[in-house]
Amino acid sequence: MSDNFSPESYKTDSKPVWCAGCGDFAIYKSMTMAFSELKIPKDNIVLVSGIGCSSRLPGYFSTYGFNSVHGRALPIASGLKFARPDLTVMAVGGDGDGFSIGGGHILHTIRRNTSITYMVIDNNIYGLTKGQASPTTPQKHKLEKALAGPYDMPINPMHIVFSYGAPFLARVNSTNIKMMSEVIQEALNYPGFAFIHCLASCITYMGGEFNQFIKKRAYNLDEKGHDPADHKSAYEIALNEQFAMGVIYKKPLD
Ligand code: SF4
Repeated sequence: MSDNFSPESYKTDSKPVWCAGCGDFAIYKSMTMAFSELKIPKDNIVLVSGIGCSSRLPGYFSTYGFNSVHGRALPIASGLKFARPDLTVMAVGGDGDGFSIGGGHILHTIRRNTSITYMVIDNNIYGLTKGQASPTTPQKHKLEKALAGPYDMPINPMHIVFSYGAPFLARVNSTNIKMMSEVIQEALNYPGFAFIHCLASCITYMGGEFNQFIKKRAYNLDEKGHDPADHKSAYEIALNEQFAMGVIYKKPLD
């Protein structure tokens, strides 16, 4: 493959089929920017996804990719990384794919500290199958819209992943492409399991409500002088219902 490292060069000619206004467009752009900044050769990158709207991402990259089985991005990405540790392996997928169908895999990938970046693109809903409740759908939304799916309390992904012992945790929002690109670069450079909780709007099934919900709760960690090596402070942030944006925890290397 060529050694053109422009963001555009990481794209294929296929045009994404996401709805106009979907947050996945911005995520796509931020990933091409991150690969470009790091100058990673295309044939050294493998993107692995499960099933869902955001899991279409590997199909739009000129890298290697595998749009795999629902909820199974992590075991496939892990197997690949064990076989080819020289490759940059990134797993992507939605909140249903990652926290419901594939929820058990997060724990075991963290236990092995497999050196892959896993970005869960959380829009609080199942978009591809037309708007059922996911593990992160707010209770209020479920009641008001009478959604199909469980009415259980939503999970706090950051709290769960932190409690499992993830050595790298970050949160980004699809409305901030620059921050997304920078955080993805930092995660890809981290020599261990890196988890990114990426908030993204599903304009079709959550409307503008999701962005309003995030806007009210989001704050930038850089502006608070947070030290990502501070485990205790990171845990308090992970527990919090507010949405801290940026790198929350980065375990110092030995
Ligand atoms: Fe994006 Fe939602 Fe449309 Fe899927 S259904 S492409 S998540 S806006």
